[in-house]
Amino acid sequence: MKIVNNTKWKTAHLRAITSKIASAELEPKKRKRITIHFSYAKYSDFVTGKAYWGGNECWVYVPKTNPHDEEYDNWIYDLASTVAHEIAHCHGHRGERWMRSSTRYGAASTRIKQWGGRERAMRTRAYYDWVFKMPLDLKDPPKKKTQLNTLETKLAKATEALKRWKTKKKRADTAIAKYRRQISQHKYRITKIS
Ligand SMILES: [Zn+2]
Repeated sequence: MKIVNNTKWKTAHLRAITSKIASAELEPKKRKRITIHFSYAKYSDFVTGKAYWGGNECWVYVPKTNPHDEEYDNWIYDLASTVAHEIAHCHGHRGERWMRSSTRYGAASTRIKQWGGRERAMRTRAYYDWVFKMPLDLKDPPKKKTQLNTLETKLAKATEALKRWKTKKKRADTAIAKYRRQISQHKYRITKIS
């Protein structure tokens, strides 16, 4: 199973939830091949998805709001049933009517009026009750090097470079002195012969 994560939610957290669902929906061979893309829902605050029937790829779109917050409909449940729904399409299930009105593949959002309404949504939530305990946190912000750290690194590099060039200079000075000596010796001998 491959996760392509285009959201700011932690990939490990998405993977933990998705793995559990994929184990229930797919046999190991298919599970290994499947790729699940996570992106943000552009025009809605619902969890949505799409998949190719019998394919190895599906897409799940998630809101940016807190997935465990009642105010935002606890959309973590909806994430679970949507992932299951799209994976089920990859597995070969088709027929939106029965899928959406089923406990296992129906939306868990209580705001959706159709497909069995609130009652069916609550059954879906009960079916995926484990997912509420799963964390889904934002990725850690990238660790910024402090200005001090950067300067200390630069200082260490410059000190090293100075040491190297001092050694080179010492060697060059020795060579210059040696060849100066040779040159004057050669010149002296030439004047003796001519
Ligand atoms: Zn569908």
